[in-house]
Amino acid sequence: MTSPNREQIIAALNSVIDPVDGQSITAKDMVQGIDIHDQTVNVMIAVDPERGPSLEDLRQQAEKAVAAVIGVTTARVALTAERSKEATDAASGAPRTASRPAGTQPGSSGQRSAQPGQRPQGSTQKPLELPDVRSIITIASGKGGVGKSTTSVNLALSLAAKGLKVGLLDADIYGPSLPRMLGLREAKPSKSDIDGKMTPPSAFGIRIMSIGFMIDEEQPVIWRGPMAMGALEQLLRDTDWGTLDVLVVDMPPGTGDIQLSMAQRVPVTGAVIVSTPQDIALLDARKGLNMFRKVNVPVFGLIENMSYYKCPQCGHIDHVFDHGGAHKAADELNVPFLGEIPLDLKIRLGADEGKPIVHTEPDGDYAKAYGAIAEKIANAIDEQVGPVEAPKKKSLFPKINFK
Ligand code: ADP
Repeated sequence: MTSPNREQIIAALNSVIDPVDGQSITAKDMVQGIDIHDQTVNVMIAVDPERGPSLEDLRQQAEKAVAAVIGVTTARVALTAERSKEATDAASGAPRTASRPAGTQPGSSGQRSAQPGQRPQGSTQKPLELPDVRSIITIASGKGGVGKSTTSVNLALSLAAKGLKVGLLDADIYGPSLPRMLGLREAKPSKSDIDGKMTPPSAFGIRIMSIGFMIDEEQPVIWRGPMAMGALEQLLRDTDWGTLDVLVVDMPPGTGDIQLSMAQRVPVTGAVIVSTPQDIALLDARKGLNMFRKVNVPVFGLIENMSYYKCPQCGHIDHVFDHGGAHKAADELNVPFLGEIPLDLKIRLGADEGKPIVHTEPDGDYAKAYGAIAEKIANAIDEQVGPVEAPKKKSLFPKINFK
C-alpha cells in the first residue's frame, strides 16, 4: 500500500472545525506537526492549555478524518499545549515581533535569559524545572559532522578545569557519541537515592547522561518529534545531576522541529554554535543562529572548528579550508566570535578513544584554545545569571593556564 502524503492529511484536517469560532483548525494554524511513517500518521494540534480538556471531541474528529485518508492504517492525534511563538502570536492577534528588550542583541549583556526553572520565552508550556542547575548552555550546529560533540566534551572539561561543577547531556539522539568520547561505552546509569531518579555515570569529574546508555550507538533509533522530545525531557528531569554550575547540552545537529522545541522547552541560558569554515559558507550555522534568535535564547557566539591544519613536525599552518569565515560571519551577524580549533588528528583520536585532548594534554595548545573559549562562555553565563557565589572548587587540571 502506498503511504499517504502530507497534502492529503492537510486536506482531511481542513474539515475539522474549532467549535469556538467555526474556523478550520488548519486555517487557524493549529496543526503543528504531521509525521507520516508508512501507513501510520501522527498529528499534533496545538491548543491553549486551558482549553485542552474540553477539546477531546475535536481531537477524536481529527483522528477520524486522518484515519479516513486512503493509505492510513493508524492515525494518532495528540493535543499539545506547546506552540511556536509565531503561532501563538497569530492566534492571539499579537504582532509578530521579537519580545527582546529594545536595543539588546543576543549575547549582549543587556538581555537576561530564562534561568533554569523559569519559563523560556516563546513557549506556552510549563518549562522543565531544574532548581539545582545554575545554567544550561546548548552546543548546536547547522548540520552533523562539524565536531559539535568533540567541542562539547572538551569545553565541558575546560569549564570543570576552571573549578565549575559541570554536567553533560548528550541530546544528540540521532548519533549519541558522548559515551564513546568519554570512555563510557560500557557504563550504565544506576538507581539514585532520590526517588525516581538515575545517577548518571561520571568521567573526568563530570556527570554524563546520554540516550546512548540505553541504546546501541550502531543501531540508531528513528525518533519522531514528540517522542524525541519526551525522551530528552525524561533524561533531563530524571537524572540526579546534583548541584551544577553549568549543564552543557550537546544538541542534535540541525535546526529542525526537535531542536526548536528543545530550545523552547529547556530553560537555556545561552547557545554556542559550532561550525566549520565550509559550513559557514553554506549558511548552515546562520540557520542555527536564527533558530535561537527566534525563541529569544541569547547566542554566546560562534566557534570555528577544524579551522586550520598545523603540521605537527614543522609547525606550518595550512588553511585547508577557507579559514576565518566564522569570525567574519560572527561580525556580520553581530554575535561574539569565541575562537577557533584547528583540525588535528590528535583531537580526533582523543575523541574516538575516549580520551579527550583537554584531559590528555592539559598544558597543550589545544587545551589552551578550548580553555580560552570556556573562559568566554563562563563570563557570558555570569552576565546572564550572576557569578558563582560559592568558592571555586579545586581545579581538576590545575596546570592549565587560561590567560
Ligand atoms: P558532530 O557532533 O558535529 O557530528 P563530532 O564531534 O562527532 O561531530 O566529530 C565528527 C568527527 O570529526 C569525529 O571523528 C571527530 O573525532 C572529528 N573531529 C572533530 N573535531 C575535530 C578537530 N578539531 N580535528 C580533527 N578531528 C575532529
